[in-house]
Amino acid sequence: MQPTGLLHLGNLEGALANWVGLQDDYEAYFFIADWHALTTLFHDTELIRRYTREVAIDFLAAGLDPEKSAIFVQSDVKEHAELHLLLSMVTPVSWLERVPTYKEKLMAPPPLTKGGPGGAIAKAGPSYGLLGYPVLQAADILAYKADAVPVGRDQLPHLELAREIGRRFNYIYGEIFPDCEALLTTLASPSSEGGDTGGVVPGIDGRKMSKSYGNAIYIADSPEDTINKVRSMYTDPTKKHKTDLGHREGCVVYEMLRLFGKPELHEDCEKGCLGCLDTKLILADIINERLAPIRERRAHFADNPQLVDKILSAGADRARRAAHATLAEVHEAMKLRR
Ligand code: ADP
Repeated sequence: MQPTGLLHLGNLEGALANWVGLQDDYEAYFFIADWHALTTLFHDTELIRRYTREVAIDFLAAGLDPEKSAIFVQSDVKEHAELHLLLSMVTPVSWLERVPTYKEKLMAPPPLTKGGPGGAIAKAGPSYGLLGYPVLQAADILAYKADAVPVGRDQLPHLELAREIGRRFNYIYGEIFPDCEALLTTLASPSSEGGDTGGVVPGIDGRKMSKSYGNAIYIADSPEDTINKVRSMYTDPTKKHKTDLGHREGCVVYEMLRLFGKPELHEDCEKGCLGCLDTKLILADIINERLAPIRERRAHFADNPQLVDKILSAGADRARRAAHATLAEVHEAMKLRR
């Protein structure tokens, strides 16, 4: 997860909640990808620094457990960078130019934020680092000889590329890296039945919830913020009065209730017995209830920065040991000096 903002309900239900469940079945490594964030925020490193801590707090608040998993910051484990360099030697540029997210970023470069380096740098085009992003991601995965990577559907092309890079390395230097599989993230909340693979949590405006759209409900929001945001959610525009029959199509409140396994709570709106605001307050309660224990843990870690630092440092030690062992094998296979 990149430290480019606070984590929101979409990150929680779409990724973190699943990760929490995986901790019992896998030896897991969860990290804050500050080097990846540099590919787009290289001019605003203060922001990366601030959010690295906030994301760590969100991770711990969501239930990632340092007793079970390694929780760390990418730049604390230099082996990621070393493996990135070595893998970059066997990765054809043409593979990287084909990556859909790279092509998207070429079409629509992110706006430079205030205090940024301005037009001259933007005009110079994409950086070497941005093109190489998937190689760093391959290093992140292969450094741990991962068997599985929990990802959303949007990350599948990157994972496929990581596999291809691993295979190419194996072909040239001998079998080191296993083929990793994607553990497709399913939308899971405690009360929802089954999962909804590939689904996304909608934001208050009906688009995908995202920090970039300003439509997110954050883990760090207060219950009052949450109520206010839910009150401004987009609903059926044809329902003007309580007695009008509401429709579920395109209604964010309905989508959210469905996500939380309670679609039936929208029925009174559809029958004209409940106004939009009433249904919104019911939804706000459900969201606040879901987030209450997470927010409580968040407050605890936010009040104990030294504890967070200790956890990240122990996580980095654990990750470094594993990555170091892989790098030793890589050096041996490549006949490099140690
Ligand atoms: P954002 O869109 O806010 O920048 P990221 O792209 O950093 O979020 O996403 C980090 C992780 O959270 C990814 O695994 C992504 O699949 C998941 N995620 C983000 N937004 C949502 C959403 N609205 N619904 C479900 N999962 C999401």
